[in-house]
Amino acid sequence: MANQEQVLIVGGGVIGLLTAFNLASAGRSVLLLDRSGLGQEASWAGGGIVSPLYPWRYSPAVTALAHWSQDFYPRLAEQLFATTGVDPQVHTTGLYWLDLEDEAEALAWAERENRPLRAVNLSAVQEAVPVLGEGFARAIYMENVANVRNPRLIKALRTALEALPNVAIMEHCEVSGFVLEGQRIVGVQTSIGEVRAYQVVLTAGAWSGELLKTVGLELPVEPVKGQMILYKCEADFLPSMVLAKGRYAIPRRDGHILVGSTLEHEGFDKTPTLSALESLKASAVELIPALAHAEVVGHWAGLRPGSPEGIPYIGQVPGIEGLWLNCGHYRNGLVLAPASCQLFADLLLGREPLIDPAPYAPAGRI
Ligand SMILES: Cc1cc2nc3c(=O)[nH]c(=O)nc-3n(C[C@H](O)[C@H](O)[C@H](O)COP(=O)(O)OP(=O)(O)OC[C@H]3O[C@@H](n4cnc5c(N)ncnc54)[C@H](O)[C@@H]3O)c2cc1C
Repeated sequence: MANQEQVLIVGGGVIGLLTAFNLASAGRSVLLLDRSGLGQEASWAGGGIVSPLYPWRYSPAVTALAHWSQDFYPRLAEQLFATTGVDPQVHTTGLYWLDLEDEAEALAWAERENRPLRAVNLSAVQEAVPVLGEGFARAIYMENVANVRNPRLIKALRTALEALPNVAIMEHCEVSGFVLEGQRIVGVQTSIGEVRAYQVVLTAGAWSGELLKTVGLELPVEPVKGQMILYKCEADFLPSMVLAKGRYAIPRRDGHILVGSTLEHEGFDKTPTLSALESLKASAVELIPALAHAEVVGHWAGLRPGSPEGIPYIGQVPGIEGLWLNCGHYRNGLVLAPASCQLFADLLLGREPLIDPAPYAPAGRI
């Protein structure tokens, strides 16, 4: 017999972990299942920029989640560091966009949204970022953009959950389908048998659409492969994040520099390729010529949970009582996680929602 109050969460990436943390912190009993180890998929592979790459190109639905989350990130990191001893390292470096085609739109958006994004002349950029390559003509800069060291965020969330008495975690437990009685969910089928629960949350990232197919629903969430490379330099080598022609460099506090990323539609294959390695190295050297002499110390791929316009699905599945979604965060799952998971908890717990939940509701979209 299932505990009527227990919430079962399928998938332990950043979205599942933070969903679990918010629900458990509000007193609910939580069971979190993952088919591999926690946080080893997109949430580990991502770059951790705490902003959409081109925030002005997104709908107000994405912007609303991003703004709330960006303001909340430093507090979240401090809280996790204080309670777990693991520092997610929110590193506020600012971000330079170079030679953008839609610079005018970006500046108009910043004015409208009251964000500190401004045009800067190239000599000022060269002074602030001496390692930047030659040949760029224009730049805009937003000073308060941070990046989070996402593998550490995952570790901190895991440690925080393990300390809570009302949370159980089962790794290497794959969910293959849902158990229904009429139009109500009563559990999930897993690699170790049936697990009963009356509230089930799907936070399975790029795999969420596949799982929902098992109950005959078409959720347009599909994998979008992204490859990334890593360098190790001196701690203050690159003082800011820089982005040109769709490729970016992200400095971590200790001098690691991530350069990403590719956008590939290759199904669920996440094998790193030589062609992407060469292409990312070329972009890295164009942005920062000195990287030609640095060694690539890491190269990996992850699968983003792609969704139409990158608007996540947050809320209850229409027609199946007790089945909930928090998935489809595409390129922005790390930045959108705090607001998405707070909004999700508001909805499941029947609290006043943090922002208007309508744009994210699964009803009418699946
Ligand atoms: C190269 C790259 C760069 C990125 N850069 C950024 C960035 O700079 N900023 C940003 O905000 N976002 C970025 N992203 C996007 C971000 O990483 C994702 O949007 C986010 O991590 C999605 O989190 P998630 O928890 O939904 O999915 P995931 O982290 O993929 O987690 C899903 C979990 O579900 C589990 N699972 C799947 N199927 C099952 C099953 N059947 N049973 C049980 N468990 C299951 C998986 O094992 C996994 O642990 C990037 C992504 C990539 C790949």
